[in-house]
Amino acid sequence: MQGLAVRTISVLILLLTTALAAAQESAATKPAVLILTTGGTIASRSNAPLIDGPELVQAVPQLLDFAEIRVEEFSVIGSSKMTPDHWLRLAKRVNEIFSNDGQLAGIVITHGTDTMEETAYFLNLTVRSDRPVVLVGSMRSSNEVSADGPANLINSVRVAISDQAVGQGVLVVLNEDISAARDVWKTDNRRVQTFDSASGGRLGTVDPDGVRFYRRSLQPHTTASEFDISEVDALPDVHILSDFTGLNETVVQHYGKQPMDGLVVRTFAGGRMSPGMLAGLQSLAGRGIPTVVTSRVPKGRIVSPPDYEFPAIVSRGQQDNKARILLMLALTRTADPGEIQRIFDTY
Ligand code: ASP
Repeated sequence: MQGLAVRTISVLILLLTTALAAAQESAATKPAVLILTTGGTIASRSNAPLIDGPELVQAVPQLLDFAEIRVEEFSVIGSSKMTPDHWLRLAKRVNEIFSNDGQLAGIVITHGTDTMEETAYFLNLTVRSDRPVVLVGSMRSSNEVSADGPANLINSVRVAISDQAVGQGVLVVLNEDISAARDVWKTDNRRVQTFDSASGGRLGTVDPDGVRFYRRSLQPHTTASEFDISEVDALPDVHILSDFTGLNETVVQHYGKQPMDGLVVRTFAGGRMSPGMLAGLQSLAGRGIPTVVTSRVPKGRIVSPPDYEFPAIVSRGQQDNKARILLMLALTRTADPGEIQRIFDTY
């Protein structure tokens, strides 16, 4: 009898040891992903303050099926409150995390959708790693019927651990679409499929059976970007001025008196301007403010702009908000109009 008891206990110990080893093996084999939280609708709930980072992630336990999840709260703000200083600090923090942790598979950044495309684009040009950085948000609050946040968060982690995402630049993942930071823009005030890509379309999809990429961004980004912000304490002050039919040149002259390091002009299609904008910018030419012309039309390129009779840099495909970011970064390296035009023709 005693021998049977000893054998039974031995079997139990063996089973427990095997199960523990399997659990440790499973945990050890899961890739590690850091979720940096900044706020936004993905962290919101009706009539209550934004959910803090750890609580946001704890609400989606399915994340642990895919990765070892770490959480760090960067901010708790709606993305309309983001500033260039936030972009700078976030880029430096992402680079610090990657340089301190060679094992991390990727970083997911939860963010409001209103200015997500801008933060994503700034990071696309300043993150010094080819490991995935994925921005994710939601169009519905966490306690709305059919909230899209949890699924978007799970899909963003699935992209962050995907080998196919390495070297793709900074990505935006919502509604099962994978978009490139350079091209993505918010196109709908309400719908979950709000993000579209102005040129070239999305890069891939997150399907139930896996992450799929169908194309790559050809313009330089991340490790191929010439912009190093490690020693930059403040970004140049770049403004945006939008043209409109019947604009009076005095508007431009008044605006031009503001202190600024650069100006982005949002014009009509093809870079064409109202007479008032043209005259106003010509009158400002003496101030020598680097001026980038963009089209308010999101698709296609400015191919043959009119003769502006002032030194203008032409943005071939960047919309005004992203041209502003590129001009900010360009001005951290040069004020030469020819060099800035090269940068706009490159990125
Ligand atoms: N409604 C926005 C969002 O989708 C609010 C924000 O951008 O913070 O997150």
